Amino acid sequence: MRRILFTLPLLAVLSGCIDRPAPSNRRPNHTASRPRPSPPRPELRQCLSTLSAQQAVFTPVEDRWYGNACSTVGTVKLAALNTDDATVTVSGLGPVTCATSTAFAGWARYGVDRAAQQILGSRLVKIETFGSYSCRNVAGTARRSGHASANAIDVSGFVLGDGRRITVLQDWNGGTPAERRFLRVVHDSACKRFGTTLGPQYNAAHENHFHLEADGADFCR
Ligand SMILES: [Zn+2]
Repeated sequence: MRRILFTLPLLAVLSGCIDRPAPSNRRPNHTASRPRPSPPRPELRQCLSTLSAQQAVFTPVEDRWYGNACSTVGTVKLAALNTDDATVTVSGLGPVTCATSTAFAGWARYGVDRAAQQILGSRLVKIETFGSYSCRNVAGTARRSGHASANAIDVSGFVLGDGRRITVLQDWNGGTPAERRFLRVVHDSACKRFGTTLGPQYNAAHENHFHLEADGADFCR
């Protein structure tokens, strides 16, 4: 059992940034290895606290604006998530907004891990993704995608404790009956936690992943 909570001291440091002005004689301290995050807004601080309480292993990422309505603001880098009694790693993921990260942590624990144990008889050990941030539009529109603000995660597959790897592309239609049921159950549970959930039933662009986005919408396909 591994319970890692190294985020609380960082939150304490961030609190200090807001409550006390920095001494005027302090030299700038910018290093490539440890960027200083912007002082978080109150709602972001609350979100980071929630994410910490979910026992996610993460590092806040410095806010960045890339132009063309693309940015990574209020994001974290998720290293791992903790379920009831184990640690789940996440692959392929860059910065993700805190709001989408908290929904993702809850989904991994109460949606995916429990469905894996109940339907497939093995716990979840890894979630594979195609990433989060990408400066682009929703395909076929002039509207910016949730990926342009790192508010969406594309989930491509799952690895279980017994070594099985279940992917959306291979197993949504081609898996065993239990694997197909597992993928539909975790898709439906994502709909309860994210504003927008898209999967293979939506269109061909989503035949190999679930698009998960905490955007406050109510769109489940
Ligand atoms: Zn997506």
